[in-house]
Amino acid sequence: MTNRDERLKQGAMRKDWRQELVELHPEVFVRTYRSVSFAPGHPFTCGDGWREIVTRFVERLSTATSGYAVLITQIREAHGRLAIHWRAEAAVPTNIERAIEEAIALAQARSACSCIDCGATASLFSNGGRLHTACPDHAQGVQVPVPPGMENLHAVRKFVGDGSSIIECRRYDRLYDRFVDIDPNSAGVRSWHEILAHVSDPS
Ligand SMILES: [Zn+2]
Repeated sequence: MTNRDERLKQGAMRKDWRQELVELHPEVFVRTYRSVSFAPGHPFTCGDGWREIVTRFVERLSTATSGYAVLITQIREAHGRLAIHWRAEAAVPTNIERAIEEAIALAQARSACSCIDCGATASLFSNGGRLHTACPDHAQGVQVPVPPGMENLHAVRKFVGDGSSIIECRRYDRLYDRFVDIDPNSAGVRSWHEILAHVSDPS
């Protein structure tokens, strides 16, 4: 058997990382009904380039929801970024819900600037109308232009006071995997508010 054949055989025998992640964190993936196990959030279909992002998200979710029944119901790619859905099987405190939303927002923001194939720093491309986030090596189609000052801006739900929330514009810091506050008078934020006003009031 050649080295190549050996590598292929090992690759076939190796478990998919998505399956490994589900088995590593059954608390947020797997439920059992009448002795039959099922995982509504698996299989998920995002590319290998987002492996680190999904893994980090699941670890954050597992830690944040320890002691509560929270289930991932879907992880997928949508319009060039991660889409994550979850449900709580019993009421969870507001601070837990905030931690879940924060973990999702961070994963989505990171996916929006990480190549879905290899994980490198990426931009949004349109290939015949289909959006995907890719590095120059894996890009197909044309790059979607981003207005100056609006790079890595995201609409993030921010909780205020008694648990109500507002949508806020924040910048994602890829180096430190966090959101940073931005000057509300910067050009990017002004453009963002203009777009938001236009969306909510199309007239
Ligand atoms: Zn790539």
